[in-house]
Amino acid sequence: MDRARLRLGRVEAGRAHARLARNTQGRQYAAVARDELVVGFDLDLTLIDQRIGIASAMTTLESEIGAGIDVQWVIDNVGLPLEAVLARWVPPGDVEGAASRYRTLFGEVGASSTRVMPGAVEAVEAVRTFGGKVIVVTAKYEPHAWAGLRAVDMAPDAVFGWRFGPAKGDALLAHGAQIFVGDHPADVLAARAGNSLAVTVATGPASAPELADAGADVVLATLEDFPAWLDAYRRKTPSG
Ligand SMILES: [Mg+2]
Repeated sequence: MDRARLRLGRVEAGRAHARLARNTQGRQYAAVARDELVVGFDLDLTLIDQRIGIASAMTTLESEIGAGIDVQWVIDNVGLPLEAVLARWVPPGDVEGAASRYRTLFGEVGASSTRVMPGAVEAVEAVRTFGGKVIVVTAKYEPHAWAGLRAVDMAPDAVFGWRFGPAKGDALLAHGAQIFVGDHPADVLAARAGNSLAVTVATGPASAPELADAGADVVLATLEDFPAWLDAYRRKTPSG
């Protein structure tokens, strides 16, 4: 199966979300001038890659509980909330316990297996160059998000964990983020909810056309293209 069908399902869901976003919010986003540049970043497959650690912890979990977890599916869909992923195979009453066990296992291997995504360090530096603030908003358990960032010597101003899709919006609004950068169609919804410009990178499960279909304002191949894009954006909105 069904990976093709699942992938198609994600695309369709992204299109539906994009239509909803356009219908309810129009095309407005935070292009107005603000005093301080604030850029929000998603974590998994935007700034860092922890798929090796995720696969290891999930394989061990499956060997312990025998729920039939499709580890490859998990890897192909990195960035989704853990409980929602486990609920595909684990009975409802056992999800919480399985999630807790997974976090223990991932805590042992996650940080050491962390790799930085291409251009991520330079993207964060580009924000700093403009005197801007960097916040990370992720579905990941917050202590593990910090551990992964520390493993690649990244020190954002703030990290918000356990948020997915539109739920990321409150953190973006709280910090007045003009821009949110992510790799998933749900990150476009996050940007919309946060009144931020939706900048996407095609380094996660979604292709560039899928991100465009989801309503992204900007689609970059990788974060290696972000500094030049940010520079151009700042020229257009110099005080924003
Ligand atoms: Mg992601």
